[in-house]
Amino acid sequence: MKKPNIVILGAGYGGMMTAVKLQKNIGVNDANVTLVNKHSYHYQTTWLHENAAGTLHHDRTRIPIKDVIDTSKIKLIQDTVLEIKPSEKRVLLEDGEVTYDYLVISLGFEAATFGIQGLKEHAFTIGSINSARLIRQHIEYNFAKYNTEPDKKPERLNIVVGGAGFTGIEFVGELANRVPDLCREYDIPRDQVRIICVEAAPTALPGFDPQLVEYAMNSLEARGVEFKLSAMIKEVTENKLVFEKDDQREEIGTNTVVWAAGVRGNSIVEESGFEANRGRIPVREDLRPEGYDDVFIVGDCALVMNEEAERPYPPTAQIAIQEAEHTAGNLERLIKGERHLEPFVADLKGTVASLGDSDAIGVVFDDKKLYGWSATAMKKVIDNRYLLKLGGIGLVLKKGKLNFFHF
Ligand code: FAD
Ligand code: NAD
Repeated sequence: MKKPNIVILGAGYGGMMTAVKLQKNIGVNDANVTLVNKHSYHYQTTWLHENAAGTLHHDRTRIPIKDVIDTSKIKLIQDTVLEIKPSEKRVLLEDGEVTYDYLVISLGFEAATFGIQGLKEHAFTIGSINSARLIRQHIEYNFAKYNTEPDKKPERLNIVVGGAGFTGIEFVGELANRVPDLCREYDIPRDQVRIICVEAAPTALPGFDPQLVEYAMNSLEARGVEFKLSAMIKEVTENKLVFEKDDQREEIGTNTVVWAAGVRGNSIVEESGFEANRGRIPVREDLRPEGYDDVFIVGDCALVMNEEAERPYPPTAQIAIQEAEHTAGNLERLIKGERHLEPFVADLKGTVASLGDSDAIGVVFDDKKLYGWSATAMKKVIDNRYLLKLGGIGLVLKKGKLNFFHF
């Protein structure tokens, strides 16, 4: 019997975990497995806000794929996916194409910009090693430039973050820690720098535990973060951001707008003909989209309903990892000739968000609230647990967050 070709697109949380599980559980005689990714490295998206603020070097965040994937078992193709042709079982890449019997789509997210004027042209987003590095360097450039100009431009020192969701909050937490260092480095008084977080909802982290939200806002405000709540961003230009609050238009002069106000699935998937709902592809309980029995979608590209809550699961690494492990299991079943696939059931373990390196908030184990050092330690445990699953103790020692007592 011909060995099936399994092709995995994207080496993020979903793609890497699918590949690692298949590498462990199936033999080279069972299937040909190919992993296609833009870069030669995997990166931990959940650390990118630290790279963007400059509190963690991006080499800590990226992991060469070959350090984890055994290339005698899995073929790696470093290339960019351009289009999926599901009716022909083909994927077009920048430098060629691949054909498949089974496809796993794990191409991640992109910023949802909601058609806001000037956003695509003038705002930064935290989406990859390259985009995070650009933000860090842009901020540093503006600090360096500030003191060299005879006409001091305050907009160089105003950093505006769009959205106080988890990404926005985690990013301003890192900025609050980084800015004092930058001020010392570039001879700039701290009180001339503003970190402003603009959020459309009346509260930061809408929907999260109000007590923890209050704790987070106090912690961030104490370190100089300003919040503009009930403030809907309307426009971004090269040197200002416009928002609407109480029916009034207000402006903030800024050269640095970081948009962290929403994500959608990678548009390549929708453009390849899969029917999308707000940029994510609805899948059945076995994570295959309707009408495509040879395609699995995992991670941020997939829209999976949480039947209990009657709404989709949020796009998180936690869920991407679980979906990947589940999909690897279902692929093993298909390879063995089984027709019945197991339904995916998410096991939500909670949410922990950092507020910089030494503070955090979280809800874990069915409503146990954490804040301060215990939440910070839990965040590191979560990060290290992922590395352990991915590459064993060696990877934890190499890339893990082991400074548990740095509070
Ligand atoms: P990704 O991990 O984004 O991986 C997609 C991969 O596909 C990447 O390697 C990319 O290079 C590759 N790729 C993309 N396009 C192409 C192409 N055209 N061709 C080839 N390769 C391509 N979730 C949590 O659960 N906990 C957290 O603490 C948390 N923190 C976060 C912090 C930040 C700053 C951000 C932005 C998100 C955070 N999330 C967190 C959400 C989480 O990162 C995502 O849900 C998760 O990354 C989704 O995994 P994925 O595999 O779908 O996509
Ligand atoms: P999000 O959609 O969760 O939050 C976006 C925020 O931007 C919302 O509060 C929204 O009200 C606000 N917003 C939208 N449009 C706006 C506008 N025009 N003006 C001002 N504010 C506006 O997006 P996110 O924070 O990027 O998170 C994406 C996903 O990643 C979520 O599922 C999140 O749970 C996950 N994530 C998790 C963690 C963690 O667990 N520690 C960290 C980061 C991200």
